[in-house]
Amino acid sequence: MKKLELERNKAPENENRAVKELICIMCPKGCRLKVEEGGGYAVTGNACPKGAEYGRKEVTNPTRVLTSTVKITGAIHSCCPVKTDRDIPKQLVLKAMDVLSGVVLKAPVRRGEVVVSNILGTGANLIATRDMEAAE
Ligand code: SF4
Repeated sequence: MKKLELERNKAPENENRAVKELICIMCPKGCRLKVEEGGGYAVTGNACPKGAEYGRKEVTNPTRVLTSTVKITGAIHSCCPVKTDRDIPKQLVLKAMDVLSGVVLKAPVRRGEVVVSNILGTGANLIATRDMEAAE
């Protein structure tokens, strides 16, 4: 009897852990995730394993592929679309945008061409995502 009461009074291990609520962005379903901060970063609300992986990563080490545009001269358009070829830490996205604001390409540019290599020391390259022919 005494042992049973002791067990009832024992707080669950995760009772004091904060829980972060997120929307999974890995597919259009948009599951509402709850991720325990700390311990094993348990995830609930996910309809598939991708959601658990996303939730844990988003709480422990959030990253993003940066997509944007940079200025280009000598082409029929004034901006060239670009993206990083891999995720970069989310906290560096604004700094990376500052780097992009100083980039001016000269046409022609080929899709996949490296525009900025190893941006902010992340190991990710910024690449053009379309061909930009020189204006005639
Ligand atoms: S948990 Fe799975 S099903 Fe739900 S939004 Fe994420 S990827 Fe889609």
